[in-house]
Formats: sequence, C-alpha cells, structure tokens
Amino acid sequence: MSACIFCKIAGGEVASQFVHEDEEVVAFKDLNPIAPTHLLVVPRKHIARVADATQEDERLLGRLQLVVAEVAKKAGLTDFRVVTNNGKGAGQSVDHLHYHVISGRRMNWPPG
Ligand code: AMP
Repeated sequence: MSACIFCKIAGGEVASQFVHEDEEVVAFKDLNPIAPTHLLVVPRKHIARVADATQEDERLLGRLQLVVAEVAKKAGLTDFRVVTNNGKGAGQSVDHLHYHVISGRRMNWPPG
C-alpha cells in the first residue's frame, strides 16, 4: 500500500472533494486553499515531480494540461494560474506530481 497521500486520494482510501475523475487523472479541491478557487490536478501514476517524468509520460503530461483546462472551464474560470512546485526549495510539500489551479483573487508577478 502506498504511503503517498495523493495516491491514497486517487485510490479512494482518503476522502476528497473531487471535481474530475478519469482513468488517468483526478482533480480535487485543495485542503488549504490559498485563493477562492484552488484545485489540484493529479495523475494517478505516481511521479514524484515534473523533473522525474520520462519520455513514457509524454502523453500523460499533455492529458494533465487538458484536464487543467477542463476543470477551469467547469469552474467558470477565465483567468487562473497553473503552478507546479518542483522540489522543497520551490515549495513542494507533497511528492506526487500535481498542478495547482488557482483563481479568484489578484495574482502577483513575479510569484513569491
Ligand atoms: P505543494 O506544496 O506544491 O506540494 O502542494 C501540495 C498541496 O496539497 C498543498 O496546497 C496542500 O494544501 C495540499 N494538500 C495536502 N494534503 C491534502 C489533502 N489531503 N487533500 C487536499 N489537498 C491536500
């Protein structure tokens, strides 16, 4: 059994508020939202971070971005930010690839 929290969520062992589920990708509401809308788009396959993706994951990475667009559309978002943190120093706290979809407040650039 995996100890990874996002594997557990994707596998239904830990409850979450799903906004999307298919064979390869799930999306759910972030437990500690940093904006009025804060969704996480996550592959079912355990890839620790985007730097660990391989050629084999090329199609899955494309699929993840399409799901980002789908969940944003479903949530009625026009302006939103898509972020993936790669490594602790960049702010990654869960070692399972995920894209944050953040919206509903002013976004600053450059990000902090
Ligand atoms: P990161 O810090 O980029 O790795 O993002 C991890 C995100 O996962 C954070 O925004 C957390 O709030 C979120 N998170 C951690 N545990 C859960 C959970 N059980 N359900 C939903 N979101 C979670």
